[in-house]
Amino acid sequence: MNVVEGNGARIPAIGLGTWELRGRVCARIVEQALRLGYRHIDTAQIYDNEREVGEGLRASGVKRDDVFVTTKVWTTHFMAKDLERSAKESLARLRLTEVDLLLLHWPNPHVPLAETLGALARVKQAGLARHIGVSNFSVALIEEAVAACPEPLACDQSEYHPYLDQTDVISACARHGMGFVAYSPIAKGRVKGDRALGRIGDRYRKTAAQVCLRWLLQQNVSAIPRTSKLERLQENIDIFDFELSDEDMREISATGRPDAR
Ligand code: NDP
Repeated sequence: MNVVEGNGARIPAIGLGTWELRGRVCARIVEQALRLGYRHIDTAQIYDNEREVGEGLRASGVKRDDVFVTTKVWTTHFMAKDLERSAKESLARLRLTEVDLLLLHWPNPHVPLAETLGALARVKQAGLARHIGVSNFSVALIEEAVAACPEPLACDQSEYHPYLDQTDVISACARHGMGFVAYSPIAKGRVKGDRALGRIGDRYRKTAAQVCLRWLLQQNVSAIPRTSKLERLQENIDIFDFELSDEDMREISATGRPDAR
């Protein structure tokens, strides 16, 4: 599996998103994903499925060290007195002793960023998270976070797909050695009906979703598509045997940047 590097973290280039996956469906999809070769699972405290993600991990039989597990702290736990307890509760639900990546889920302007980042760094120093990072941070907030955080930040996780230009945020991450993880990487399924992606896909015998995920991969971005369907699990990881041309890449990138056309 290709990896995206971020200040020492090696984030597998494709992961399984688990937002809205609940109960037995969630545990089963996580288990199947790992059996199919996924090595990166994305969950969050607010998704209310950490328990089921943990069940899926154990049922898969894949060794703990071979899986990259991300979870996120919700904004109501950003004060120094709350953050470590919140991280420990996530670990208890997952039944893990540490996660690979712990993210601040969303900026919270009501708590000083330096306070939250200090607490996040202490969680890493206590061995509860191998790496730490942020999510939904703008360029300005990334700059502020990098300056204030006592530990290096592995990545920013933000929405990114052909209909949303994130060039500035991705460049900011690169400037600071951070990786970028794309959420909603297939635009919540919208790319399925995209005629340009479909036409490009026909040339490679790939679906529009596969072309979209390959476009992300070729930008050295990690993507975490979610599906509740077994056949799509396979489809979304089957993107390592073809390469988009520079022209294809430019055409897809121009979709979200009408000014650049
Ligand atoms: P995605 O872009 O991953 O799209 C998921 C939707 O696309 C589902 O409805 C799924 O339906 C459908 N789908 C999946 N595969 C295919 C395919 N091959 N062809 C057509 N349709 C497909 O959206 P998400 O918003 O879920 O983003 C992915 C993950 O990112 C989340 O699950 C979560 O882990 C993370 N995330 C993080 C956020 C943050 O604030 N940090 C915010 C939002 C998401 P079906 O189940 O029927 O296959």
